[in-house]
Amino acid sequence: MTEGPVAIELSRCEACLARFVPTDGPCPRCGSTRVGPLSVPGVGKVLAATELLVTPPGVRSPNRLALVEVADAVRLLAVVEGPLPGRGALVSVARVGEVYRARAELPPPAERGEGESPRARTSGPSFEPPR
Ligand SMILES: [Zn+2]
Repeated sequence: MTEGPVAIELSRCEACLARFVPTDGPCPRCGSTRVGPLSVPGVGKVLAATELLVTPPGVRSPNRLALVEVADAVRLLAVVEGPLPGRGALVSVARVGEVYRARAELPPPAERGEGESPRARTSGPSFEPPR
């Protein structure tokens, strides 16, 4: 696999070739324990993003989260650094400790509104299913 400037580690099942977020267990699709590491570029597309303004104690507000699809349709939940990305935006993804962190590579689209909800704002898939 190709490696970008920032790579993230996935797992690949040697039996069914499924790609998935690394776990300590067997392949989540077929149960095989023949699982190896797979390094992919840390770039993905935002499927959905949300911004939590009311957060649990100890969590900074606003707390922005994005569901990001990286290589081979593997989806990661990432903490967003910087402005909330719109759906379809390209973001860079890096793993920091146990947390994936995403940052917009391009300016966010102008379509996102401000202050629609006092608690959360969501941009989710609504028009076309992900590939
Ligand atoms: Zn498998």
